[in-house]
Amino acid sequence: MDILELKGVGPKVAKILNKIGIYNDEELLSHYPFRYNVLKKVNFNSLEEDSYIVTDGMVETLPYVVHFRGKMDKMSFKLNTGDKIINIIIFNRGFYKSKLPIGTNITIIGKYDIKHNTCVASELRFGALPPNPVIEPVYHTTFGLSSKELSKIISQRLENDINVTDYVPDYLNEKYNFLDKETSIRVVHEPKDIESLKQARRKLKYEELFMFMLKMSYLKSNKGSELGLSRSVDYNKVSIGRNFLLNRIAETKKKIYNKVLDFINELPFKLTEDQLKAIEDIYNDLTSPIRMNRLLQGDVGSGKTVVAIISMYINYLSGYQSALMAPTEILAIQHYNNISKMLGKYGVKVELLTGKVKVKEKKDIIKRLQNKEIDVIIGTHALFSDDVLYNNLGLVITDEQHRFGVNQRGSLKNKGVTPDILYMSATPIPRTYALTIYGDMDISSIKTMPSGRLDIITVLKRENEIKDVLNMMHKELLSGHQIYVVAPLIEESDKIDLENVYEIEKNMNKAFGKNYKIGVLHGKLSNAEKDEIMDNFKKNEIQILISTTVIEVGVDVANATMMIIYDAFRFGLSALHQLRGRVGRNSLQSYCVLISNRETERLNVLVKTNDGFKVSEEDFKLRGSGDLFGYRQHGDMSFNLADIKRDFDILTKAKEDSEEFLKLDNEKYDFIKNIVMEANNLD
Ligand code: ADP
Ligand code: MG
Repeated sequence: MDILELKGVGPKVAKILNKIGIYNDEELLSHYPFRYNVLKKVNFNSLEEDSYIVTDGMVETLPYVVHFRGKMDKMSFKLNTGDKIINIIIFNRGFYKSKLPIGTNITIIGKYDIKHNTCVASELRFGALPPNPVIEPVYHTTFGLSSKELSKIISQRLENDINVTDYVPDYLNEKYNFLDKETSIRVVHEPKDIESLKQARRKLKYEELFMFMLKMSYLKSNKGSELGLSRSVDYNKVSIGRNFLLNRIAETKKKIYNKVLDFINELPFKLTEDQLKAIEDIYNDLTSPIRMNRLLQGDVGSGKTVVAIISMYINYLSGYQSALMAPTEILAIQHYNNISKMLGKYGVKVELLTGKVKVKEKKDIIKRLQNKEIDVIIGTHALFSDDVLYNNLGLVITDEQHRFGVNQRGSLKNKGVTPDILYMSATPIPRTYALTIYGDMDISSIKTMPSGRLDIITVLKRENEIKDVLNMMHKELLSGHQIYVVAPLIEESDKIDLENVYEIEKNMNKAFGKNYKIGVLHGKLSNAEKDEIMDNFKKNEIQILISTTVIEVGVDVANATMMIIYDAFRFGLSALHQLRGRVGRNSLQSYCVLISNRETERLNVLVKTNDGFKVSEEDFKLRGSGDLFGYRQHGDMSFNLADIKRDFDILTKAKEDSEEFLKLDNEKYDFIKNIVMEANNLD
């Protein structure tokens, strides 16, 4: 069914739905709420820490409104909740002022700060709470469509029959007492009580994880038989080399190896043991007839790129083309500059292809690819668009693998090639988890950082210690260094949070505005605006960069030595560790300041260690904060509902079940197997 057939969905709304990835009925139904508002009055006596609250009450004092920044305003008043009189602050609802005389009954949802007895409301509704708790779904959405409006559309849809396929085989549904799929979908969108909601979510999570593990298990069971390229050595290109590790490899491979050694010996630095081991792993894969499917993981700055470069060099020496795909344009360009410099002097022809390249130029690049006039191509997704054809693609490397989803082998297969594949990831995960999630891959890990790198000094500060933070910042600025400030948004559409950002900007301006330039980067800016700000930061025309979004992974501004993170508790430890990795990229001492009043014990892990593998170990041990009122994890995988960390027990079961399922010979379930096989071919 087309979404345009739904009541209330015209072309305009349809376009917005498309923006959040909903094109058809199935996608609409599986756009699950990411959290729920439980409309139940808070008990102020049992509140131990600041949190989201829901309360009703009567307006106690006349609202007071101040206007600023043109269209913004801030309204404050006191609310008598029966138990307690609290302060309410709400942004950009000044227009309600006249509707809020003293004595008006209203309901408030917002963040309550115990110390200041103040609730920064994200929602104000007229009328009291219903007598029984109501569970309201909250959806991720985007400008032009509120969560409530989306909820309405989905409710309308649910008035009709839904026709969904349950991918969990009957015997497993029985084994776990799962709700059927249709009921589960209805319940997650329109929950009546917490218990059935939990059950429904458990079923849908299991289904996602089961299908995911089935794909992994299928890939794994097929892996041994998948032949890749068997490279032969081009002796014309080979010179006599050194004796580094030579005894470890077979005689026939020595010649390429010697070339690689020359390359390694001419590097301006000495490779670490882990880098050498990774190179050896990859070298062995590339020169063996079995297809490589390898994950290279290591912290930001651990030196994965040079390993990738050497892999491409080996591939070049054996006569094949390489493609390196980066998650963003900025990163692709950064890689291109770096790689063309390093490989260019060895005669390797390197080219850049991103979505921004003009049609004519793209045609030219494609032609040269087909004529083998390009050896290494760096780019974004554009590298694998349908019109791009290679002459003899031998190696595909993807940087920051988790951004792309599980596996691209299928799309390559469609191009009729079976290149070796290397994924690079800066989000290390502990071994047991890796075996599950990356079960079909071999793994090389770079655990030690290049020597001479200083640990980033990390400190944890409470919100009322902001003076200390400003002092630390001042010191860095005086030394001529630059600073990142991250102020996370809960939801992209949340105006309050954006307001927080402007508040932070105001404070920074007050403290430093006279002598330093401050830039603000947030999701509502156009790409051109974002690029310009990033560019100015790179050129040191901006000294303090305030950002609401996670700063692009891999962006490299060597002169930035300090990372300040507001509301640090909102991030997982690994995400924080990633952010911290934006600084400390050279021999300058760098700092990371985490600001949080909550979850300080968890955050302390980062104060204690700089080792990404240890951080992720802890991150996996400590589960994320509460489920309801949660926030979207900056994810490793894109599941609609499941979260590989929080739902690891379900994942483990799904893994066992999927392996058994594959051995099962029952025609009844062929449709499930077919889906898995198709997905692995076409993904
Ligand atoms: P990653 O991709 O893992 O985040 P990079 O490959 O970008 O890290 O490496 C970060 C920096 O460290 C680069 O400037 C790189 O040239 C340098 N580097 C890499 N390996 C070493 C090494 N063994 N010794 C010193 N510097 C290194
Ligand atoms: Mg990198």
